[in-house]
Amino acid sequence: MPESQSKVTFKRVMLKISGEALMGDQGFGLHPPTVQRIANEVKSVHDLGVEICMVIGGGNIFRGLQGSAQGMERTTADYMGMLATVMNALAMQSALEELGIHTRVISAITMNEVAEPYIRRRAVRHLEKKRVCIFAAGTGNPYFTTDTAATLRANEMACEAIFKGTKVDGVYDKDPAKHADAVRYDDVTYDDVLQKRLGVMDASAIALARDNSLPIIVFSLDEPGGFKGILAGEGTYTRVQG
Ligand code: UDP
Repeated sequence: MPESQSKVTFKRVMLKISGEALMGDQGFGLHPPTVQRIANEVKSVHDLGVEICMVIGGGNIFRGLQGSAQGMERTTADYMGMLATVMNALAMQSALEELGIHTRVISAITMNEVAEPYIRRRAVRHLEKKRVCIFAAGTGNPYFTTDTAATLRANEMACEAIFKGTKVDGVYDKDPAKHADAVRYDDVTYDDVLQKRLGVMDASAIALARDNSLPIIVFSLDEPGGFKGILAGEGTYTRVQG
């Protein structure tokens, strides 16, 4: 058994990725090879028997704040953002099913023709049957983000941790893309993230994770095999907890 496989102790996890993670270098929309690459990352963890929940953002297609900045009514813009997450979820479902993994897209906004409605007990059953559950349409409410949706669903599904896949390998004291001397934290508390505005997730998501002692592990999704390695405690990442 490979080293990383033997060390994975998680039974059920939430993987949160931003919509932008699916756009590759295009700057907008979906880049199918990138979606396929991330689906392969998910498969490698699924193959270990870990139960996987996913939340994918919508920022590669539409963000409510951008719409409202351009004069659109905020709640309408937010609903458009939520619909964008459904498109991303369907793209990920398709990529995972091509790899032979059974999935369900579960939407917080009822749209029975394209996705299952969210029913907590039903979603838990899917996980027990090793189906990957992709939670779409955020929380179903405007003024929230998919980070909060991921934290909410992770709590409801009793996930042991949220794995937040980003472009960088953890949380830094300042933006590592702009500052060569930025320092990565191995561990950081929820309160530090909030007080220092470290930009891991929005404040509502962090507070919800803190109040339910749900660890957040921030890692780079750009590393091949990164998700599986991080689950085994390998590689570099930041753990946010109390
Ligand atoms: N959104 C919302 N309520 C939610 C989740 C998302 O209104 O519970 C909207 C919001 O407009 C947001 C957009 O959906 O800008 C896309 O989600 P997010 O910005 O979290 O995506 P990401 O940055 O992760 O790609």
